[in-house]
Amino acid sequence: MTAPETSMSGTTRLVASLIDASTSAIRANAEALGDLDRAIGDGDHGLNMARGFSAIAEARETIRALPLSSALQEMGKLLVMTVGGASGPLYGSLLLAMGRAAAAPEASLARMLEEGIAAVKKRGRSDRGEKTMLDVLVPVQLAWAQSLADRADTRESLERLKRAAREGLESTRPMLATKGRASYLKERSIGHLDPGACSSSLLVHAACDAFLESTKP
Ligand code: ADP
Ligand code: MG
Repeated sequence: MTAPETSMSGTTRLVASLIDASTSAIRANAEALGDLDRAIGDGDHGLNMARGFSAIAEARETIRALPLSSALQEMGKLLVMTVGGASGPLYGSLLLAMGRAAAAPEASLARMLEEGIAAVKKRGRSDRGEKTMLDVLVPVQLAWAQSLADRADTRESLERLKRAAREGLESTRPMLATKGRASYLKERSIGHLDPGACSSSLLVHAACDAFLESTKP
């Protein structure tokens, strides 16, 4: 799992699995994401994300034929165009930067996460600890780096990524929001999960499952 560009057919399977897993995770949880956003935002996060992933699902056949780097960039562009709100440009930046990193000769998942998350921080002028999607994404990046350092096998590494995402999401509950709409609530944002952290956790879980699915014989 160090080199994300495997054989052409392997990449096509991975991209198709990524699209299918992320689309069904977002669709199945759109209502719950909306509820989280209704508590500390304006309630549109589920609809925003469902719109974005429906656009990706519609373009499935075109995107799956692309190499991983172009596929991620295409998905990023579709999210920018269709999701809207604060999260559309942020998820768009994440996938565009991950896709660009995947095209580099020394491409690795570690570099892709590093560059993707740096792009989110830059666009959001935000960092971990502010009750946003970064409270999931940054721990996931750290968990992947630790898995590499420990030479953990693929299955164990993916379990660690999922755990980091789950714990990252839960970590947003006691946090005070200092970015995005939830920050308008000040102390009243405390005690709720962040909707963007929840969608990020769902997407990390979907990506891990898709990777396992695509490597099945
Ligand atoms: P909006 O807040 O414009 O209605 P959404 O509801 O689609 O947009 O997305 C809200 C989510 O976006 C938040 O829960 C948070 O995770 C994320 N978010 C908002 N602002 C930022 C930011 N500056 N940096 C990182 N993530 C952010
Ligand atoms: Mg919202």
